Amino acid sequence: MALIKGCTNIECGQKHKEVKFKEDDLFCPKCGKELSYVCGKCFTPLEAAAKRCPKCQQKVDDRKAKVKAGASAVAGAAKVAAPVVVAVADIPGIGKVAKPIAAVAKKLPGGKK
Ligand SMILES: [Zn+2]
Ligand SMILES: [Zn+2]
Repeated sequence: MALIKGCTNIECGQKHKEVKFKEDDLFCPKCGKELSYVCGKCFTPLEAAAKRCPKCQQKVDDRKAKVKAGASAVAGAAKVAAPVVVAVADIPGIGKVAKPIAAVAKKLPGGKK
């Protein structure tokens, strides 16, 4: 079950025909309203984070979201580790302190190799 979008404008005929759009489509070509995620089974508008349709309990495919969250978590860890190394190197006069910290930083993921 792939994520689909639909026009939720009640005055727009696209809703009544239950016209389905791809995830890449942003606006309804007929009325210009921003498209929302909808249930592929009953066309009920879904919250962005919804796992199931509130009306018919059709499961929403969230595989894409999980992959994206995992990738950003790894990137976040690298971003946290990198500034520590830079900050220590930029401050003069703390060479004795900076060396042990730099050694620890090398062992962290995302640190200097
Ligand atoms: Zn529309
Ligand atoms: Zn549904």
